[in-house]
Amino acid sequence: MIQFDLRALENFKIRNFQASLRHTIFFIGLIRSISIHLHSPALKLAYLRLFQQALIIFFLPEPICNFTQVKKIRIMYRIMNLKIFAFVVLWGLSSLTVYGQMTVTDHRDAAFTEFGYRQGTAYRTASGKPGPSYWQNGADYMMEVTLDEENHVIKGSVTITYKNNSPENLDYLWLLLEQNRFTPESRGTLTTPVQGDRYSGDIDGGFSISNVKAQVVGKNKPVSSEYLISDTRMQVTPAEPIPANGGQATVSMDFEFKIPERGMDRMGRLDVEDGTIYSIAQWYPKVAVFDDVTGWNTDPYLGAGEFYLGYGDFEYKVTVPYDHIVVGSGELMNPNQVLTREQQRRMKEASESDERVYIISPEEITDYANTRPKQEGMLTWHFKINNSRDVAFASSKAFIWDAARINLPSGKKAMAQSAYSKESDGQDAWGRSTEYSKASVEHYSEMWYEYPYPVAVNVASNVAGMEYPGLNFCGYRAKGQSLWGVTDHEFGHNWFPMIVGTNERRHAWMDEGFNTFINYYSYLAFNDGEYTNNLKQTRRYTGWLTNPDREPTATHPDRTQSNNLGMVAYYKPALGMIMLREYILGPERFDKAFRSYIKTWAYKHPQPTDFFNHMENVSGENLDWFWKGWFYSNANIDLAINGVYPYGSNYVVSLSNHGELPMPVLLEITYEDGEKERKMLPVEIWFKGNQWNHLLRADKKVVAVEIDPDKVITDINSGNDKWPSDLYK
Ligand SMILES: [Zn+2]
Repeated sequence: MIQFDLRALENFKIRNFQASLRHTIFFIGLIRSISIHLHSPALKLAYLRLFQQALIIFFLPEPICNFTQVKKIRIMYRIMNLKIFAFVVLWGLSSLTVYGQMTVTDHRDAAFTEFGYRQGTAYRTASGKPGPSYWQNGADYMMEVTLDEENHVIKGSVTITYKNNSPENLDYLWLLLEQNRFTPESRGTLTTPVQGDRYSGDIDGGFSISNVKAQVVGKNKPVSSEYLISDTRMQVTPAEPIPANGGQATVSMDFEFKIPERGMDRMGRLDVEDGTIYSIAQWYPKVAVFDDVTGWNTDPYLGAGEFYLGYGDFEYKVTVPYDHIVVGSGELMNPNQVLTREQQRRMKEASESDERVYIISPEEITDYANTRPKQEGMLTWHFKINNSRDVAFASSKAFIWDAARINLPSGKKAMAQSAYSKESDGQDAWGRSTEYSKASVEHYSEMWYEYPYPVAVNVASNVAGMEYPGLNFCGYRAKGQSLWGVTDHEFGHNWFPMIVGTNERRHAWMDEGFNTFINYYSYLAFNDGEYTNNLKQTRRYTGWLTNPDREPTATHPDRTQSNNLGMVAYYKPALGMIMLREYILGPERFDKAFRSYIKTWAYKHPQPTDFFNHMENVSGENLDWFWKGWFYSNANIDLAINGVYPYGSNYVVSLSNHGELPMPVLLEITYEDGEKERKMLPVEIWFKGNQWNHLLRADKKVVAVEIDPDKVITDINSGNDKWPSDLYK
């Protein structure tokens, strides 16, 4: 605290009333503009107290500054103290009410200063690519499990072959045991609100683990069974470190868990009339990602935060009752053991058909005698998928099953499949699921990057919508546009994060946001615009964007307020990408850069900075101001036209930037003869301040000028975008 010292007054002279007023206005303006940026109430109060003291110095008139009149000073001080204090507090409070309004003085160059690190490393280059020493560890998986339908239990074993490509010897491995979320004492359970939320889960589950063996690959290596489990993480310690630069280890164990009915809206089981639909995910112990940024990524599985998973080849065998149908990530390896001849024939027909072909028709659901290769006991379904981050599957005796061919740009083919019960059937519902799946995968393959997996399965489930490599769980009650929307969204996730392997648990916007963005173009392309998507009408979101409770997109999903998550992780980043493509860079430059980002980081682990660097390098544009303003802060856009004035034979368009996030300015000029012309003023007009006069060369009379005529940018104040202003018409 700064103490008030009366002796300082001796040197202070107030010459006249005008000077005093000027000082007052200056001071209050200063107090106010700074206090707006102090978001902590305690800090704000301390700050205002400080200026209260300073103002008193300003206000004390010269004759009072005399040490012989101590009593008078004390009285005056008290009176002024109270008055000024009340005044300052009122101003401070008024600052709080304009929290969301972006009262910004000239930022000069603040909005344009460098953002994040710009230097490359040996692992990640400044141009946004994997560097010369980039490494990534991998693991291949073999699982064999059995479904115990009576007790809703999955039981089996896993063998993991782990490859350490990192430059350090690894003394231990961290594995993820996501099923441990479903226990009474898990961190996820203990951090679920009392009233529950979307990520509520059963609490009578969790993994039972046994027979753990870890062994470095090599001659005569000892076997270790040392491990510890902490919540949803398991640390396995081999007898000796896994050597750097290519050393391998195998880890195997037996596991079992009760399949939760409510599995955090990412897995679960649903009873329908003809049986139970099991949606199985997070079902085997999986190695956590060890990377050059965080080391071991061991953030626990709580709720909103999804997954960060390494790549590998998977083979898995699922043994289920004979009357079940299993669909899973990857290719079915033993169709002749689990399908009838007729079903194999239909499958082949579907692989050559752009129209849906039933493998099991609605009439055949319970006709087990004719649709199953045997009539008792169990059947083992064998699947394989390569270069994948995960595998999921669904099993039920209640499935209708249909399929059609997916045509990929290279000429390769894949298969779209749907599995759903009769409750979901119908042309207004899941009867079109395979059509939707095929269209979605074909669109993304055409526009961004070719789909790599042999099958794309859509499963009707009690999960509202959840993505896995080559397989979705979508709401079994979804119909029409909502079924199209969820199917398209979940398949879109095959590009983010399945192909481009980001860390969802920390950077949800890099998969949900990018996916919501690419969904927009998929909607437009589907069936000549059968369904509508108005993401590009970005100003519909300005209500949230000016809400004081909003949070920046970079907020980790588990720390984001539940009612903000949709905007923070999905819509705000998607709007940013729309503005980047449709307004800032244009489709040609944007698409080249974004396709390059996807291709460069396919099956790898980019960080946010790698994305920023890559986009900047390929597009040739420094976008620091945009990344910082849009993804890492609550800044808003507010461009304004102050007026249009004759200037010789030309015009001057007077512009202001009232927002914290600068933007290039797209002007639409309307001439007297009705002709319209567009001009893009670069963002650099705001380099030196928030006012700009644009010299508009015109050889005919200008009658109107409008900023952002297509309303693509989220300008929070549309009232100042036009000249002449609509307000005065
Ligand atoms: Zn999603």
